[in-house]
Amino acid sequence: MNLSAPISSIPRVGPAYEKKLHKLGIHTIRDMLFHFPRTYEDWSVITPIENVTEGKSWCVCGEILEIKQIRTYKKGMSFVNAVLQDTTGAIKVRWFNQPYLADTLKNQDKVCLAGKVMRDKEGIYLASPAFEKLKEGESPFEHLTHTGRIIPIYPETTGVSSRWIRSIIKMILAKHGKDIQEILPPRILQERGLSPLAPSLWSIHFPTSLQEAKHAEKRFAFEELFYILLFILSERKKIARVKAPVIPLDTDLMQRFTKKLKFQLTDDQKKSAWSILKDMEKPRPMNRLLQGDVGSGKTVVSAMAALSAVKQGYQVALLAPTEILAQQHFKTIAELLTPFKITIGLLTGKSDRFISPKLPHDYIEISQKKLLERIQANEIEMLVGTHSLITDKVKFDNLALVIVDEQHRFGIKQRAALLKRSTLIPHLLSMTATPIPRTLAMTIYGDLDLSLIAQMPKGRKQIITKVIAPEDRPKAYKTIEQEIEKGRQAFVICPRIERTEKTPPQLEIKTVKEEHERLSREVFPDLRLAMLHGKMPAKEKELAMRKFKAGKFDILVSTSVVEVGVDIPNATIMFIEGADRFGLAQLHQFRGRVGRGKHQSYCFLFSESANRTGIKRLRALEKSASGFELAETDLKLRGPGDFAGAKQWGMPDFAMQQLTNLQLVQEAREAAKQILEEDITLRTYPALQAKTQELRAKLHLE
Ligand code: ADP
Ligand code: MG
Repeated sequence: MNLSAPISSIPRVGPAYEKKLHKLGIHTIRDMLFHFPRTYEDWSVITPIENVTEGKSWCVCGEILEIKQIRTYKKGMSFVNAVLQDTTGAIKVRWFNQPYLADTLKNQDKVCLAGKVMRDKEGIYLASPAFEKLKEGESPFEHLTHTGRIIPIYPETTGVSSRWIRSIIKMILAKHGKDIQEILPPRILQERGLSPLAPSLWSIHFPTSLQEAKHAEKRFAFEELFYILLFILSERKKIARVKAPVIPLDTDLMQRFTKKLKFQLTDDQKKSAWSILKDMEKPRPMNRLLQGDVGSGKTVVSAMAALSAVKQGYQVALLAPTEILAQQHFKTIAELLTPFKITIGLLTGKSDRFISPKLPHDYIEISQKKLLERIQANEIEMLVGTHSLITDKVKFDNLALVIVDEQHRFGIKQRAALLKRSTLIPHLLSMTATPIPRTLAMTIYGDLDLSLIAQMPKGRKQIITKVIAPEDRPKAYKTIEQEIEKGRQAFVICPRIERTEKTPPQLEIKTVKEEHERLSREVFPDLRLAMLHGKMPAKEKELAMRKFKAGKFDILVSTSVVEVGVDIPNATIMFIEGADRFGLAQLHQFRGRVGRGKHQSYCFLFSESANRTGIKRLRALEKSASGFELAETDLKLRGPGDFAGAKQWGMPDFAMQQLTNLQLVQEAREAAKQILEEDITLRTYPALQAKTQELRAKLHLE
């Protein structure tokens, strides 16, 4: 059978079901088989009726007696009553609102029922149990699908129940199970102790023990990780064969650069810079991730790489995740590099500009057309912008280095697009403050070399972090006032921009617009407040930021747009509303917006609605100043979620869960390496070759 055939080619799936299944992401017969249970219910023990007790769930088998539909006068209510009898006793059964059961089940039918036993005035009864008819002469232990065994519970949608999915999958497996082609090489299965595909599919859908289901799940998770690693490692081998511009390390130039800085580089900054500069000396494209907590000083390290490349006559592109950050980088880079006579351009949505070496502290606004011409003519040596930098309209003359800030926000896809555009492949430096657990670093980021800035610049003060109880809100406002009196500034972060029709009115949630209004009028009438959110036009956003940075506002009420990178050393208070709505890593990013200067800083976390685990999560921030520790905590408390954009690989949830399983990742990596060492082209493994091509297509790398 062709597993790629549309799901509608199955007899029981008509157009109506087909549409609903699409909602679940099921298009082909294979998709159906890979629609894995989200959990299981254990109905494997069949209990004699005399032993069942109230308040618990049981599976019982016997004969149906006295089945009848009861009409009630209450609208939307109906019952089907029956009695189930086995050799040990009898029990009443009552189904609510399933009138058709009175026709489906007949007296003397042999059935298994599974459900909870309840009690009313007249005694105990089985409440709306799942049912399954037994055929005459059939042993109840074979052939059961919905009762009398461990049954799978699936992700469902309206009109597509787990019961229905169960029967369809069982039918496909029973009919075609033997024809399903194994993709993993037998040797790998053997060495890793994994079961073959067809039995694993049976085990994951219809296990005889939960252990069996786990074992099958491991196989499928291994498989997903294995394909991704196979793909990444083979790409890496390919890239190791292409040419990149050679950028000799000019130690004299680097020394002049560091001498001009107002501070001394930390050891980690020096080490990272060294690895980067050494990478760029090689004729192979660098692919390095510079990882360092918020405020650890990654920008200056990247500036050294940029300076190096430009001074060899090449161009450099710096990509920021947002326009605000692009503008900020533009200014920072200008300060760092104009002393070395470098022309720097800023390409954003609208107002484009560049800095010529003749006017280090000012810039010239030019049209985008002019800017693009200058880039193509290599008159702009370094270009800063958002992802708009990698559209086809920007043509570099000789791009040698691409720096990507907060790379997980950019798709692998865009990265590949950039890499495609010149004959010499540019070096790539990615920077992130998102701590990446080791397992992820090995898979998703498996093609990157890693540099870590683990230490903070000297003299940074610890940020005082506090979870504030609602009744202490006025005290916290008092602290803001005092800080502002001293000349400092504050951020107030709200989870939403404004209330919409969809926001339930009773929902306790702070919005930027309402909070800006309330604080200006009621709380800080004498202070200067500004607001910042994603729906504002770019020009206004920039203006608000610029004025705040220049000290023209005391308080900036903002959404999460200030999350990454924004550098305002005079701000000392970070006040976060609805803190439980954010992940720890994100909160840590917010906190990193203060404590960037010499002043003592504060981070106040509010949450009107957080429950106890929510508060516990927030307390982790009080205790830890390390983004790495917090990421681990988050991973434990909330699971991987869409950690670091892993979803763009199309990784199913069950495999995502396994991203925290270091041993499994390592095994998959070893297996992938082994196969590639044997045959880098994968020609001898056509099924694996097809899989890697599938991944490539998914990421649109072709
Ligand atoms: P991030 O790693 O979060 O991007 P930045 O590069 O924005 O951090 O640096 C944060 C601040 O620290 C900047 O104001 C920068 O000038 C300053 N800085 C960077 N390195 C050092 C250092 N070695 N000593 C003191 N300050 C530093
Ligand atoms: Mg930064």
